[in-house]
Amino acid sequence: MVCVFNLQISDTDIMEKLKRCELCGEMKPLNDFSKSYKNRCKKCVSYMEKTKRNIHKEAKDYIALMTAPDPISESLLIDWEQRRYETAKDLSCAYLIAHPTIPFIEIAKVCVEFTDTLLNELKVNKHDEQSIQDP
Ligand SMILES: [Zn+2]
Repeated sequence: MVCVFNLQISDTDIMEKLKRCELCGEMKPLNDFSKSYKNRCKKCVSYMEKTKRNIHKEAKDYIALMTAPDPISESLLIDWEQRRYETAKDLSCAYLIAHPTIPFIEIAKVCVEFTDTLLNELKVNKHDEQSIQDP
């Protein structure tokens, strides 16, 4: 009788100090529960926070990947004709100042030839860089 009474006391005692976690459903002592989420055990809250952090990190990685400049599409965006005009024009100005006695047509021919050589060299090097970067 005393033994049964003692057992009942201790059962009630245990029941008062245990609580069911709303996430994992396990019965756990009160001090195993989170202070921020009163019905969730510390283990579940820690897992929840870790998962949240990972989701944020994955989202960041995804955004970084999607917004990273793509070297191939970037090279398609280069307006080579505009670049050719600008280069030939700048070169002609410099040439005219340095050699004012050379006929304009000769200057134009030399500058366009030099510009085409320069731009072809730039395009070739750009492709070489890409083939190194691309697996
Ligand atoms: Zn839990």
